[in-house]
Amino acid sequence: MAYDFDLFVIGAGSGGVRAARFAAGFGAKVAVAESRYLGGTCVNVGCVPKKLLVYGAHVADELEQAAGFGWTLEEGHFDWGTLIANKNREIERLNGIYRNLLVNSGVTLLQGHARITGANEVDVDGQRYSAANILIATGGWPQVPDIPGKELAITSNEAFYLKALPRRVLVVGGGYIAVEFAGIFQGLGAATSLLYRGDLFLRGFDGSVRTHLKEELEKRGLDLQFNADIQRIDKLPDGSLKATLKDGRELVADCVFYATGRRPMLDNLGLENTGVELDERGYIRVDEQYQTTAPSILAIGDVIGRVQLTPVALAEGMAVARRLFKPEQYRPVDYQNIPTAVFSQPPIGTVGLTEEQALEAGHKVQIFESRFRAMKLTLTDIQEKTLMKLVVDADTDKVLGCHMVGPDAGEIIQGLGIALKAGATKQQFDDTIGVHPTAAEEFVTMRTVTR
Ligand code: FAD
Ligand code: NDP
Repeated sequence: MAYDFDLFVIGAGSGGVRAARFAAGFGAKVAVAESRYLGGTCVNVGCVPKKLLVYGAHVADELEQAAGFGWTLEEGHFDWGTLIANKNREIERLNGIYRNLLVNSGVTLLQGHARITGANEVDVDGQRYSAANILIATGGWPQVPDIPGKELAITSNEAFYLKALPRRVLVVGGGYIAVEFAGIFQGLGAATSLLYRGDLFLRGFDGSVRTHLKEELEKRGLDLQFNADIQRIDKLPDGSLKATLKDGRELVADCVFYATGRRPMLDNLGLENTGVELDERGYIRVDEQYQTTAPSILAIGDVIGRVQLTPVALAEGMAVARRLFKPEQYRPVDYQNIPTAVFSQPPIGTVGLTEEQALEAGHKVQIFESRFRAMKLTLTDIQEKTLMKLVVDADTDKVLGCHMVGPDAGEIIQGLGIALKAGATKQQFDDTIGVHPTAAEEFVTMRTVTR
């Protein structure tokens, strides 16, 4: 049977655009439907605007450090409206680039909500299209617990478009987004509290990293409240918000920001018309080649809930395009040793196993850990410490994990990701000549086993 398209992609986010462009480049006839914004979460309400706001907040650090280097600055003034307007302009520019990328590679771009109506059929706002393969790349959406007053809270989606910087913010959650936005709000001048339901935030990250970041954030005056959970939110007559915690305490703020995880975006997607099954967590179930339980339908990215990072969605999109249209070039995505950064202030960079994971996996581990005050701070009064840590297998000498909290951690960890992928040993780290004077050289000069 002749179909309208070889591949119909639902969602022009990180994964969908990558799959569509490369599939078209391999000669396939491809359509992409996008209901909201080109570039998806990452470009519009994720990585990109977040990093721009992090840069904005970081300026406060630079200003604080300036005096030590002899600079006298007049009192600075921050204008949220300018930052948001400039950010919006950059996002619009990127939207245009994504449009050109798709159109120039021959992809048919359909603006509208896509709903699957059969194994090989998609409806976009009333218009039906047939396709040999359908790729679901619809991403995720913020999830807020069902408490009274939840409609008074905002999520990352709204935070990027706030009219003004709130004076007092309660950030709820203890994952990437909570920690990053707590740093943004506080860095830009809001009195910020971070409320996390457990004993220590960033569950799943290395224990030293979690403790170190906690100490550094507290030094910066961020109000960290662990074992704190909001029971209800009420609006007060003056317009501010009162959060009542499960332990009975009441906190008042101008903004309550929830970052309590994301759910797969399956709204009105028409899965009931297909044989696509969900896994026990509610994400789309796929095999190792991203095929769902319906043979003509594939899924990638946040909607399959494996590793919710843009570079992972890109790699999955690439794998699908190759698998379908260039099988001789197909390579499975390697989920081992994915480097990642949390753009907190200071940021985290991490790749490989945490100390806890290495022990749990049965490795005999050697830990190399270093804490130091970065050279840049030596002319200032700032007492921030950088943490670097290597987790090494004592039997094979292989480096199992690298972890850092400190300036440029994300930039530094990328290269170490290559080293781990190549299976580097601690001896090879030691044999590598350092770049002097940098913080990064500490990763090749740690000689004494800490534990
Ligand atoms: P998305 O990028 O979410 O794209 C899905 C697209 O599908 C959307 O454009 C949506 O509008 C569209 N869509 C949904 N349903 C339909 C439908 N039925 N019809 C038509 N279109 C539809 N990752 C990093 O690696 N680094 C970071 O620094 C980082 N920061 C982040 C910060 C925040 C605040 C958030 C929320 C996420 C961040 N992420 C980061 C995660 C990253 O954004 C996601 O992992 C990535 O965008 C997932 O890509 P995707 O293709 O699966 O989905
Ligand atoms: P995460 O899953 O990372 O964190 C969710 C946090 O919310 C956890 O601390 C969790 O606690 C807590 N939580 C969950 N449910 C509740 C609840 N009902 N009440 C109170 N607290 C709750 O999600 P995020 O929203 O922070 O981010 C989503 C994903 O996006 C990330 O996992 C990451 O993959 C990606 N991302 C990547 C970034 C980057 O690369 N820099 C930046 C931002 C996002 P607990 O640990 O106890 O379960």
